[in-house]
Amino acid sequence: MTSLPQRRLFDLPDGVIYLDGNSLGPLPVAAKARVAEAVSDHWGKMLIRGWNAAGWIDLPSRIGDRIARLIGAEPGSVMACDSTSVNLFKVLSAALSLSGRRVVLSDMGNFPTDLYVAQGLLGAMRSPDDLKIVAPDTVLETIDETVAVVMLTQVDYRTGRLHDMAAITAKAHDAGALVIWDLAHSAGALPVDLQGCRADFAVGCGYKYLNGGPGAPAFLYVRPDHADRIAPALGGWMGHEAPFAFDLDFRPAQGVDRMRVGTPPILSMVALDAALDLWDDLALSAIRAQSIALADLFIAEVERQCSGFGLELATPRDGALRGSQVSFHLPDLDGKDRGYATMQALIAENVIGDFRAPDLLRFGFAPLYNTEDEVREAARRLSVILSERRWDQPRFLTRAKVT
Ligand SMILES: *Cc1c(COP(=O)(O)O)cnc(C)c1O
Repeated sequence: MTSLPQRRLFDLPDGVIYLDGNSLGPLPVAAKARVAEAVSDHWGKMLIRGWNAAGWIDLPSRIGDRIARLIGAEPGSVMACDSTSVNLFKVLSAALSLSGRRVVLSDMGNFPTDLYVAQGLLGAMRSPDDLKIVAPDTVLETIDETVAVVMLTQVDYRTGRLHDMAAITAKAHDAGALVIWDLAHSAGALPVDLQGCRADFAVGCGYKYLNGGPGAPAFLYVRPDHADRIAPALGGWMGHEAPFAFDLDFRPAQGVDRMRVGTPPILSMVALDAALDLWDDLALSAIRAQSIALADLFIAEVERQCSGFGLELATPRDGALRGSQVSFHLPDLDGKDRGYATMQALIAENVIGDFRAPDLLRFGFAPLYNTEDEVREAARRLSVILSERRWDQPRFLTRAKVT
């Protein structure tokens, strides 16, 4: 297996083995030129005329349609907008407004921001006890007739464990509940079939596997038969039926357009749009097969080259049960923060992954630019750092603000 021809479409620094595209995708070459053009030719010369002349106003829905194809969503059902956290607030409040119930069911593997958003919203609704957080493997059996909304992230950000979207969605619907899927670690990593599962809502990130750049716009999905029934809690003028009528009362736009809130960040939208060009001719099934092969190889190489240092696989061994990432526990040693320090030492040696508390070394695999050779070399450098105890230096043991 060699890398796909897409690798040359990324501006990756020489010598860097980048295994963190699950946290921040690398820079697509095309994005540089497109953002430069948007700055000088569009913003610079068109000025405010750019909203019409450069089509800025339609970027959220146009980009939404491009993402829709990657997540098995109907055309016209996805909007690129806001951040994942904010979009989650929007779809969770919408889902609760469609349900006569209050209970939101989530799991302990969910990303904290998702849980914080639910806590805040239920708190504002004076219903703080209605958030139920259970162990990931008990979600299915916990769904019952009291649940309003099942709110889950498909791929666990720490362990990479993949939820069975079809089974959970079907069980929730049988119990009369709605389902929100967070696709932060799914979009661009594996085939997703929102339409086939009849999922009700979804959200996800633009800056992870979609490579849209730091803080790229996120996306949200609303199943088309729900869209016209939602009264947005976070209604804004961009979601109004006629923003430039400047009415005093909110009248929602048709369909998913009503989930827009404020003015879109155009420069970031342009970068994400350019990044999405990479996917135009790709089949996600082929990407998925290669991602599983790369991760399988990494697990095998780490276990072969790094045995005896206390590394323990935190990720499902079966590729069909995980997303596109692999994590290993690496416990403290001699009272020292070995996991964190080992990742910093690896980064200093040009293998970039990340660390997740309490003790996880996390590596993401993106077949668009990662190769088998890189995977072997990453495992080799990890083994050297552990065997020579290179991690045990003050500069690696001091935690930075972002881990
Ligand atoms: C990365 C991630 C987020 C990030 O949300 P932001 O609003 O972009 O900061 C949210 N949810 C999950 C599951 C994530 O993995």
